[in-house]
Amino acid sequence: MAGKVFSRNAVAQHASVGDLWVIIDARVFDLSSFASAHPGGLGVLADPEIAGQDATASFFALHRAEVLRRYAHLQIGTQIPPPLRIETHVGSLSAVPYAEPTWLSPGYHSPYYKAHHRRFQAAIRKFVEEIVYPDAQVCERGGDKPSQEVLDEMARLNIIAMRVGPGKHLEGRVLMDGIISLEQFDAFHELIITQEFSRIHARGYGDGLGLPPVINFAQPALRDRIVEDTLSGKKPICLAVTEAFAGSDVQGVRCRATKVEGGWRVNGAKKWITNSMWAHYFTTACKADNGEIVVLVIERGEGVRTTPIKTSYSSSAAGTGYVHLDNVFVPQGHQLGAGHPGLHIILHNFNHERWVLASASIAGQRIIFEECFKWVTQREVFGRVLSSQPVVRQKLAAMISRIESCQSWLENITFQMTRMSAKEQAQHLAGQVAFLKMHATRGAQVTAADSVQIFGGRGLTQTDTPAEDVLGDLGVRQALRNMPPQVRL
Ligand SMILES: Cc1cc2nc3c(=O)[nH]c(=O)nc-3n(C[C@H](O)[C@H](O)[C@H](O)COP(=O)(O)OP(=O)(O)OC[C@H]3O[C@@H](n4cnc5c(N)ncnc54)[C@H](O)[C@@H]3O)c2cc1C
Repeated sequence: MAGKVFSRNAVAQHASVGDLWVIIDARVFDLSSFASAHPGGLGVLADPEIAGQDATASFFALHRAEVLRRYAHLQIGTQIPPPLRIETHVGSLSAVPYAEPTWLSPGYHSPYYKAHHRRFQAAIRKFVEEIVYPDAQVCERGGDKPSQEVLDEMARLNIIAMRVGPGKHLEGRVLMDGIISLEQFDAFHELIITQEFSRIHARGYGDGLGLPPVINFAQPALRDRIVEDTLSGKKPICLAVTEAFAGSDVQGVRCRATKVEGGWRVNGAKKWITNSMWAHYFTTACKADNGEIVVLVIERGEGVRTTPIKTSYSSSAAGTGYVHLDNVFVPQGHQLGAGHPGLHIILHNFNHERWVLASASIAGQRIIFEECFKWVTQREVFGRVLSSQPVVRQKLAAMISRIESCQSWLENITFQMTRMSAKEQAQHLAGQVAFLKMHATRGAQVTAADSVQIFGGRGLTQTDTPAEDVLGDLGVRQALRNMPPQVRL
């Protein structure tokens, strides 16, 4: 049916409730059965300026292009003669200015990225948009774990393994069906995966924070088993450090590990543990009877229970939860790095975690900017597009400046990671990464607040938000009107 073509006149014959067609972006949709279920109400669609008409401008003033894709099954044909189409191709680079980092923007050069990085980025973008994004939206809405088929495919391509970064765990693996070699894989590929996965607008899909301590500090047999189980997508792992009693102060954890014959008995609870709802393995910081921190890998089983915590960034896919540990027996062999201070084991991967978080935050801000930029050019308020308002343009300028400066800093640090040994990174990059994360996440808060202003009521779906900057401008203009003319410096 979608292959049929209709003239505007033909579409105009279907302009009543019960027989209602519209043209959007040169596609003809039959909304007859959908109209009464329209979230915005039947009346909006039955309006004479919409029913039987080209409603492209009205549609994009209210919706994202994604909505069109969601309702593709309602398309019955296309319009002739076809006007200019608003095309989006799965996996393609965005044409919106500043929506891609400069290394992916036409006309720019980069000293960091080689041809294999570009090949890799294109493949990951396509995979994320085709496979992960749709699944993430469904799971996030339904409160479900990421689909096993998606995790299986990620495992087959070794994406779960690559998300942990370069290292021995990649040995013998074929990466993305062989489009890059093991020798080529470096921190820039990990940066690409992290930033591309930020495009799913959801969490989950391979959060392996609990794995690096295992890779670095577990006995070989245990390490190999857990690496295989987690990187195959079958048995996820999480990092269980934080408690209601202790977060930043890791030394203050109260989860108790008591020495017993053959191992430990663990009692306590962990809070805000990402991925814990889906995890089989828990890399857990405990306090031993002598007051020292021990790190134990606990397997889901008797005495282990998880309950969900809903957060503002994810209602489900992140798998954030409480972990209740009641008299759990942990074999001695599951202690990580016996002989190393437990605190050292926990802190060992912190720089890398911070670098990952900064990378994701910067990419997330760029996506927000792209949404805002599209919105300000398609939304009309008071008869003018939003982009014609100086106060709006000023917010966009600040967003671009923050994102571009952070990305440049991030790429510089990433380049150092490809050249420095682990020891040199610990010595030289800990401060840089900490500063970058602080700077990027502070900027993220401003970007988030400004984007809510730009989107107006749509910025928060549950409440209407007053556009504070507009109110502020109104207040200043009123004050200027009331300024007595005789006042001078
Ligand atoms: C999205 C998300 C995911 C998370 N995932 C995990 C996970 O997978 N595993 C896990 O173990 N934990 C996880 N956490 C918990 C996280 O590690 C803790 O929130 C963090 O360690 C801070 O602990 P807290 O929230 O208890 O804050 P607190 O330690 O109570 O600190 C409260 C505030 O005081 C500040 N503060 C602390 N000490 C000082 C000081 N000396 N001087 C000045 N200010 C100070 C802190 O910066 C903070 O702003 C997650 C948290 C979030 C938000």
